[in-house]
Amino acid sequence: MTPRITHDGHVGQVDATVVPRFAGPATFARLPRIDEVSDVDVAVVGVPFDSGVSYRPGARFGPAHVRESSRLLRPYNPAQDVEPFARAQVVDAGDLAVNPFAVEEAIGQVRAGATALLERAGRLMTIGGDHTIALPLLRALHAVHGPVAVVHFDAHLDTWDTYFGADFTHGTPFRRASEEGLLDRSGCLHVGIRGPLYSARDLVEDAELGFQVVHAREMDDIGVRGVVERIRARVEERPVYVSVDIDVLDPAFAPGTGTPEAGGLTSRELLAVLRSFADLDLVGADLVEVAPAYDHAEITGIAASHAAYELVSAMASRS
Ligand code: MN
Ligand code: MN
Repeated sequence: MTPRITHDGHVGQVDATVVPRFAGPATFARLPRIDEVSDVDVAVVGVPFDSGVSYRPGARFGPAHVRESSRLLRPYNPAQDVEPFARAQVVDAGDLAVNPFAVEEAIGQVRAGATALLERAGRLMTIGGDHTIALPLLRALHAVHGPVAVVHFDAHLDTWDTYFGADFTHGTPFRRASEEGLLDRSGCLHVGIRGPLYSARDLVEDAELGFQVVHAREMDDIGVRGVVERIRARVEERPVYVSVDIDVLDPAFAPGTGTPEAGGLTSRELLAVLRSFADLDLVGADLVEVAPAYDHAEITGIAASHAAYELVSAMASRS
């Protein structure tokens, strides 16, 4: 038997005082697999899919890289004053197996897999994969919660219409979601937007689809506290889905991604904003676009694993 920390009836991490952190298989934060427990509050699930990318490929290896980079996550989160794996039963649900050669079939498989998991787990923390997967995840959540507010961290709007005639790419999920009525258009915003656009029209259409924008350049003036206030004022009491494209971070903090843009957030800024979400009705989250072939020394993987830890902590606080 693998020695594990247990608390309040919840099966936690492998006990690092008995089995060193670098030993054994890498589940997220060395948590139990979903088949090792009976009840589940929060499931961490991987979606190794990157057939929707427009530039560098490789996010299909993101889930394995984030898991491997999560071995140092410890049981007590002092910033949120919570032991997330004691407060809630958190598990690693493995990867959804999706077709790498048929984007629309893969989207259906992600939705079906997420729907099945939501019958066991109250909340999902999904590790991508490219941003295409946010659409089927929102479809699955909409079936449970109705329209949700979305807080979207990204260098890019991801509300473009088509690319090479394709409706479903990593640059289009939030336009499709808005068109389908999955979003509460009065509660959505992007954080960290930067870099050149195709035209000024992009921002006009984005607003029509229901999004406010906190540009990365605004961080200098309003700071973390200002961003948290903008989010809270926009989301209010709505059920909220948080989508984190790791390219919201500056390439200095996340080089391992497919479409890097200069001038992004620091990992400290991102983590500080995510820590405020224990106060929101956080119904689900994803963390996408980690492409380990462009990473060095797990820089991107560690930032991603810590961001996911803050989101899981916020979810556990409400479980
Ligand atoms: Mn992006
Ligand atoms: Mn994106």
